Amino acid sequence: MSATILDGAATARTIRDEVAAAVAALRQAGGPPPGLAVVLVGEDPASRVYVAQKHKACQEAGFHSEVITLPGTASEAHVLAEIARLNADPAIHGILVQVPLPSQIDQSRVMHAIDPRKDVDGFHPVNVGKLTMGDDTFFPCTPLGCLELLKRYRIPIQGKRALVIGRSNIVGKPVALLLLREHATVTIGHSRTVDLPGEVARADIVVAALGKPRFVQGAWIKEGAVVLDVGINQVPHPDQPGKTRLVGDVDFETARERAAFITPVPGGAGPMTIAMLLQNTLKARHLLVGAR
Ligand code: NDP
Repeated sequence: MSATILDGAATARTIRDEVAAAVAALRQAGGPPPGLAVVLVGEDPASRVYVAQKHKACQEAGFHSEVITLPGTASEAHVLAEIARLNADPAIHGILVQVPLPSQIDQSRVMHAIDPRKDVDGFHPVNVGKLTMGDDTFFPCTPLGCLELLKRYRIPIQGKRALVIGRSNIVGKPVALLLLREHATVTIGHSRTVDLPGEVARADIVVAALGKPRFVQGAWIKEGAVVLDVGINQVPHPDQPGKTRLVGDVDFETARERAAFITPVPGGAGPMTIAMLLQNTLKARHLLVGAR
C-alpha cells in the first residue's frame, strides 16, 4: 500500500480563502474586520520568521493586523502593560504572544494576563480548562489543525484507537483531548512509555509530536493506519553538504508503505497552524462583536 498524502498546504490554502471570503463579506456589510495583535519580544530569528508569516497571512485574509515588537531587554511589566492595552483595544480580537520569551519574563504570567476571550492560541488556563471539560472554546492552533485535516479528508475518528506521542501543553495534551472530544479511544505516549512500537502497532490513528527526527518507524505502523506527523526537525541535507532540510518525527518513506493516510513534512500539519489561527481570530471577533 502507498498512503494517500494529507495535503496540509492545499487544505490550509482552502481554509485561508474561506476565511478571506468571510472577512470580505463582513467588510462589505460595514462590519469591523477581525483584528490580531502579535507581540514579539527580542530578536530570535525563528520567531521573527513565524511572526512575519502570521502578519502576512492576516493581511492576505483582510484582517486588521498589528505586530508589537519589544526589545529583548523589555521588562515583564512592559509586556504586561502592552497586553492590558490590547485587552482593552476594541479593534483587536485576538492576542498572541510569540514564544520563547526572554528569561527575565515569566511566560506563564504573561499568558495568564491575556483576556481569555482574545486568547486565540488557546493557552490561557480558562480555555485549557474548557477544552478539558469538553466545552467549546479556543483550541490551540496546531492540534486543531490536525483535527481539521482529518475532518476535511472525511477520516472517521469516533471509536478509533488513537495514539498521541508527546504530552506537551502546546501539542500532545490538546491533540489527545481533541481526539477524545471526537470519541476516539486515546492513548498518550511519552519518554517513559514502555514498548512504544507496540503502542503504535495497535493504533488506527498515530499523532507523532515528540521532536525526534524520523523516530517512528514504518514497520511499527499498523497496515491502513492514519499518520499525522507534527514534528519539525532540521537535519543535515543528504545531498548538499553544509545545508539542512526539514523532516518529521516519522520515517516517512517506510511509513507511507503501511499507512492509508499520512502527512508529509513539510506541507502537512505545519501549514494548518496559521490557517487555524485565522479561523480562531475570526471566531473571537464574532464572539466579541457579533457575527455581523
Ligand atoms: P516538547 O519537547 O515540548 O515535547 C516532546 C514530547 O515528546 C514530550 O512529552 C516527551 O516526553 C515526548 N518524547 C520525547 N522523546 C520521546 C521518546 N523517545 N519516546 C516517546 N516520547 C518522547 O515538544 P513539542 O510538543 O513542543 O513539539 C513536538 C514537535 O512538534 C517538535 O518537533 C516541534 O518542532 C513540532 N511542532 C510543530 C508545530 C507546527 O507544526 N506548527 C507547532 C509546535 C510544535 P516527556 O514528557 O516524557 O519528556
